[in-house]
Amino acid sequence: MDMSGIPAGERFPMVSSDAEIMPGELYAGYACDAEVRSAASSGGVVSAILLHLLAKNAIQGALVSRIAFADGSVRGVTELACDRQEVLSHAGSAYVDTPVLRRLCACKEFNGKVAVVALPCQVRSLRKLLARDEPLREKVAMVIGLFCRGAVTHRFYQDLLRRYRVDPNAVRSVKVGRGHYRGIVRVSLGDGQDRVLSFSRVNAYRIAGMHAKQLCMSCTEHLSEQADVSVGDIFTKEYKAEPIKHSAFVCRTQQAADLLQEMRQQGKLELRYFGMQRYRKTFKRLERYGSNLAPRRFAAMLTGVGPPGPMTWRFNPFHGLAWTIFCANSRLTRSDAGRRFAYRLPAPFVSLEALLIKALSKT
Ligand SMILES: Cc1cc2nc3c(=O)[nH]c(=O)nc-3n(C[C@H](O)[C@H](O)[C@H](O)COP(=O)(O)OP(=O)(O)OC[C@H]3O[C@@H](n4cnc5c(N)ncnc54)[C@H](O)[C@@H]3O)c2cc1C
Ligand code: SF4
Repeated sequence: MDMSGIPAGERFPMVSSDAEIMPGELYAGYACDAEVRSAASSGGVVSAILLHLLAKNAIQGALVSRIAFADGSVRGVTELACDRQEVLSHAGSAYVDTPVLRRLCACKEFNGKVAVVALPCQVRSLRKLLARDEPLREKVAMVIGLFCRGAVTHRFYQDLLRRYRVDPNAVRSVKVGRGHYRGIVRVSLGDGQDRVLSFSRVNAYRIAGMHAKQLCMSCTEHLSEQADVSVGDIFTKEYKAEPIKHSAFVCRTQQAADLLQEMRQQGKLELRYFGMQRYRKTFKRLERYGSNLAPRRFAAMLTGVGPPGPMTWRFNPFHGLAWTIFCANSRLTRSDAGRRFAYRLPAPFVSLEALLIKALSKT
């Protein structure tokens, strides 16, 4: 029995961590460069891949995203990073919708190849776009997809910042810095000062459904299966106890597996086999919560945020309750009066809602 409580070897294939990286299998790893890790969300695997591609001249730019003041509000922005400093300044997770596809189309004029970092829904749309646009297809050397279970619209940060008495118009950028257990949200102001907010408090508003992105209500694919390589967090007890935070990653093509193997041989990437089967087994409850549409459709119908859907025998009432709280908050934040009300609620109440949703999603 390992620390995650899962008997290794009996139900999961044992693979030596020295073996070649296998496409479709899940690994836990981190960037060997400590500077990359300190800027990153988990183990810095995404940024390490981008830096490696730039160093070997396989790409001349990477489409990366962050939260910044643009077009009159604090929102997700997608930019072309062409060197180490630009890649690192965009490392980390921007828990907000980002204009990746729009920015990619603007890359047509760019003289060089690009890698794209995108959320699973964006990866799916991107593949459709690339299938019908050959010049753009030629331009994209690699698609790195993130794991994702929900994002918010750009209004989220506007309201949240006001909630914490920060004038959104005075904000330059917002950066989420996450540790193993706790994290911070650093709000950089135009006057050079920073405001620091608790990540768990901010994240509670996202988990509770405030300003949820509409597409998340019907999304069932959370691991960027159509990317060349997909990267996320790994939250097992075993990896929470590790002194260095790891990313989870899956190479979807042999080409991507060869690239990461090359990084490993060059001492840029440290990794351990984890296994896709084991990952799915470990997070099977979360998987069930995120892939079954019936409770979500019921909640959407009840709260008026979406069309009614068929009820099936797979309906889990606890999931239905979790989605109802989520959809009710989403509905609330769609109107000006509702937004004002939602952001006047005491923060501990929103944290409680988020905790309840989390607990119910694990049933
Ligand atoms: C909205 C959102 C929801 C997520 N939900 C989960 C989840 O439920 N479970 C899970 O395991 N992982 C989730 N992740 C992924 C996780 O937070 C990390 O991004 C992932 O582990 C990669 O970490 P890293 O240290 O390897 O990447 P880093 O080296 O930190 O690089 C991350 C890269 O992602 C880019 N990026 C950040 N935000 C966005 C965005 N919104 N759109 C496009 N590109 C972006 C950055 O510009 C950067 O290049 C989510 C990420 C986002 C943005
Ligand atoms: S949950 Fe799905 S729809 Fe929502 S942002 Fe993530 S990938 Fe996109």
